[in-house]
Amino acid sequence: MHLRTDGIIIAIDGPSGAGKSTIARLLADQLGYIQIDTGAMYRAAAFMLSRAGINLDDLTAVEQFCADLNIELEVVAGQHLVRANGMDVTELIRTPEMSLLTSRTSTLKPVRDALLKAQQLMGRRGGVVLEGRDIGSVVFPDAEIKFFLSASVDERAKRRFEELTAKGEPVTLAETIDDVVKRDRQDTERDIAPLKQADDAIVIDSSRLTVAEVLTKMVELCRTKIKTMESLT
Ligand code: C5P
Repeated sequence: MHLRTDGIIIAIDGPSGAGKSTIARLLADQLGYIQIDTGAMYRAAAFMLSRAGINLDDLTAVEQFCADLNIELEVVAGQHLVRANGMDVTELIRTPEMSLLTSRTSTLKPVRDALLKAQQLMGRRGGVVLEGRDIGSVVFPDAEIKFFLSASVDERAKRRFEELTAKGEPVTLAETIDDVVKRDRQDTERDIAPLKQADDAIVIDSSRLTVAEVLTKMVELCRTKIKTMESLT
């Protein structure tokens, strides 16, 4: 077992709408760690590919485009910002259309290769909470602690629906359920790095738990792990 400079790596995987982002942010705050929202990175890549009009069937063009794509996650005055080639895309990447497009572009090997490399660079020193679909299985299979956060389709769609309507998006609950089912299918059935529970992940079903309950459980497990790792130094 090797020790990292800035702390441990915490991996949180799970399907869309399971509450990963909220939990990852709170967990990172409590531990003084950095949150890395890899879904936001895939969304930013999808947005930029679409904005540049890149033909997604032309993998050479996608690869060339990704080679020059720089995605940054920043916290400015408590606000979590996503920048792509310097442009603030924080809000632009959160629409239902972008969610579905991202599910498609994230199946492309050049996109995954580029973001995998970027995520490994961002997290390798430790002291990070990474959330996504393939963190514990592909990005950091050696993460010190892995969680798989899940919830029923109905519960996840309900949460997403409430989030979107609060932002004024004109969606129905039925459409949101359809989108969640479709994204689940695309994310679990793709060939490269599909949404997968790592064998050594701690599974938490958040359907009937509050955010505070999930957080308390995870903070406790992480603190114990951090202590164990520190006792090895
Ligand atoms: O987490 P979020 O819903 O923002 O992710 C958007 C999409 O990005 C997912 O539906 C998935 O297709 C893709 N994604 C991925 N691998 C990750 C994180 C997200 O393929 N590690």
